[in-house]
Amino acid sequence: MAADVVAVGAGLAGLVTARHLQRSGIDVTVLEAGSTVGGRVATNTTDGFVLDRGFQVLNTSYPALRRDVDLAALDLRPFTAGAAVRGADGALHRLVDPRRAPAQVWRTALDGLLSPAAKLALTQLSARAALGDPRQLLAGPERSTADELAVQGLDGPATEQFFRPLLAGVFGERELATSSRFFGLVWRSFTRGASTLPSRGMAALPVQLAARLAPGTVRCGQTVLGVAPGRVRSGTGELTARAVVVATDPPSARALLPGLDVPLMRSLTTYYHVCEHPPTRLPLIHLDGGGGPVLSTTVLTAVAPSYSPDHRHLISSTVFGVPGAGHPEEPEVRRLAGAIYREGSAGWQHLGTAIVPQSLCTFTPPTPDRLRRTVSLGDGLFVAGDHRDTPSIQGALVSGRRAARAVLRELGVPGPA
Ligand SMILES: Cc1cc2nc3c(=O)[nH]c(=O)nc-3n(C[C@H](O)[C@H](O)[C@H](O)COP(=O)(O)OP(=O)(O)OC[C@H]3O[C@@H](n4cnc5c(N)ncnc54)[C@H](O)[C@@H]3O)c2cc1C
Repeated sequence: MAADVVAVGAGLAGLVTARHLQRSGIDVTVLEAGSTVGGRVATNTTDGFVLDRGFQVLNTSYPALRRDVDLAALDLRPFTAGAAVRGADGALHRLVDPRRAPAQVWRTALDGLLSPAAKLALTQLSARAALGDPRQLLAGPERSTADELAVQGLDGPATEQFFRPLLAGVFGERELATSSRFFGLVWRSFTRGASTLPSRGMAALPVQLAARLAPGTVRCGQTVLGVAPGRVRSGTGELTARAVVVATDPPSARALLPGLDVPLMRSLTTYYHVCEHPPTRLPLIHLDGGGGPVLSTTVLTAVAPSYSPDHRHLISSTVFGVPGAGHPEEPEVRRLAGAIYREGSAGWQHLGTAIVPQSLCTFTPPTPDRLRRTVSLGDGLFVAGDHRDTPSIQGALVSGRRAARAVLRELGVPGPA
């Protein structure tokens, strides 16, 4: 069996690699260990409810998304830009972006969670993020996000009650040790785009990317056991190729390419509950400003009613880690999530749990030049995946495009204009 290029892994990075190569006339085969495409971006249906594999959102401002994806076809459902935070005072505070929810401007302005000085600093931070040149972010000094917030005058209660709970779910860590450069890009995407859910679930994104490939490109259920220059060995035999792209998650990439520098991964677990009467009808992420174990909770059906098969509502609540010692059990998560909304949760029914041990890559300083790790390893071996760029959907898509370009250069094939 032979192909011009074999890609290992049909996550976002592998799918984008394959698409760019095929557009340049290259014959590509993608071998995927799982039974479906998408990797970490996955969706199941349970009792008719749409359950993503963990709480994930699609930010419409990701440049790679706009380039590689037909966003309109995903029928995106937007969150309200902002968050509701249960503060240390026990009250529920609503902080929404006044530019995008003008009707709420006074409510946000008068809310007491942030001091007037912190609100001003937040407004200035958001304006710089929205309007600034992203290259400036990369040129500035790099520090931890916690230190960056302090430099911006947003330490103290603003960090503890707003940024820490909000960013913990994005970074997969509560210390805010993540690079200030990545924080800058995340904040830019928050201020410029909308956080959304595709009406049929997050998996609609990789399904769309896969549908654009030539029929038969992706072969699921094929675990690759070893790669070498020009060769890929799976359980069903060996493929030869002029180039091999390893587009797996970081631990699998390290196993296939010993010595590859890959980041550590953080784990997240999301609990799904169903209820008759939702604790809120607002399409808004809810956070615990008191530092409890539930990082965020959202009534998903308030964002995307299509996540439910009927009149009932679907709630997702996310915690760090995987079930085991020191991890809150489901009844405790349900109780704590209800408390964030300041509502009882006794009537919520547990529908499912998404345990994702390898969810988000760590991204602490010092980060690589322009936030990019090499994708060309020499001898016709290439690597793609979010661990080559930023730990995000954007990073995975960009890495796939970069790997495809590097392959085309090696094969001496001109890329698309
Ligand atoms: C719970 C959760 C929430 C997230 N939330 C967000 C969010 O809100 N916004 C955002 O931008 N990003 C988010 N992310 C991150 C984002 O989903 C990832 O950065 C991105 O999907 C990574 O894509 P990838 O193609 O690099 O890797 P993966 O998705 O990990 O794909 C790798 C593929 O390789 C396959 N594979 C592995 N080993 C082998 C082998 N030996 N042989 C064959 N195939 C193999 C795997 O089965 C998998 O399909 C979230 C991730 C998780 C888990």
